[in-house]
Amino acid sequence: MDIDAFIDEIKKATSISILTGAGISTASGIPDFRGDDGFWKTNKPIYFKEFIHSEKKRIESWKNNIALTKKLSEITFNTGHTLVNKILSLYRDNILITQNIDGLHHKAGTKTEKIIEIHGTALRANCLECKKIFELQRFHTAIKFNKPVPDCDACSGLVKVATISFGQSMDPLKMQKAVHAVSQTDLLIVLGSSLVVQPVAGLPRIALENGKRLVICNKEPTPFDIHANLVMNGNIEDLANKILLSHVLD
Ligand code: NAD
Ligand code: ZN
Repeated sequence: MDIDAFIDEIKKATSISILTGAGISTASGIPDFRGDDGFWKTNKPIYFKEFIHSEKKRIESWKNNIALTKKLSEITFNTGHTLVNKILSLYRDNILITQNIDGLHHKAGTKTEKIIEIHGTALRANCLECKKIFELQRFHTAIKFNKPVPDCDACSGLVKVATISFGQSMDPLKMQKAVHAVSQTDLLIVLGSSLVVQPVAGLPRIALENGKRLVICNKEPTPFDIHANLVMNGNIEDLANKILLSHVLD
């Protein structure tokens, strides 16, 4: 991994967008999407339509969330998340777009206003009608005691974990913010994403079309490697450890 070239890209820029995917959280103990112990092999996805139409699926979805949030409460961020924090602090307009739903960037201290959680978060719920946000506790308690899952107390709409399910539309405002960020900032740094899940995989293309620079750090090759200004095939933790220990960004 060419650390010097990476630092050089950061120092040349005056504003940076960072895009993180499941690969930044594997060192914290959450398997990524496609690995052998892939997230969705143990957490069979529930499609949005199924959630809407089936109470059984809603209960299953809440049970999955109970298991996931238990796991998330037992793990913590790693040096990759710390490196992201460090880079975000360098220039005022820097922004993080994450596909992760695990809340580990928040745990690492990144402020909410610096993060676009493009696929939502597993740590809250919201009403599908009026979008009211809820803490998870009351839903978890209902499930644990075999009680009916509460509906929204403001509009009686269905309440679901605030992640984007398969078949569910993303929040257009979040996507607009992400597109704006990558087309305005000088540099896009991708950390731990296969760059095949749409529409997020379109963001590097938008950055390039706007004449911005692109750096990718991922264990495996991505479809954008040939277009990137710098590709580092390796572990994010190794990159982060080297940079943080060298204090070169302090
Ligand atoms: P992905 O699984 O498609 O790609 C992750 C990439 O990270 C892979 O190419 C892998 O080679 C690489 N990788 C794994 N460990 C790495 C490491 N230590 N260092 C560097 N690279 C590493 O993930 P994606 O592109 O984020 O898409 C997955 C989708 O599933 C997203 O929509 C996301 O919302 C969801 N998801 C989220 C989580 C999470 O919140 N932690 C976990 C799994 C899946
Ligand atoms: Zn509501």
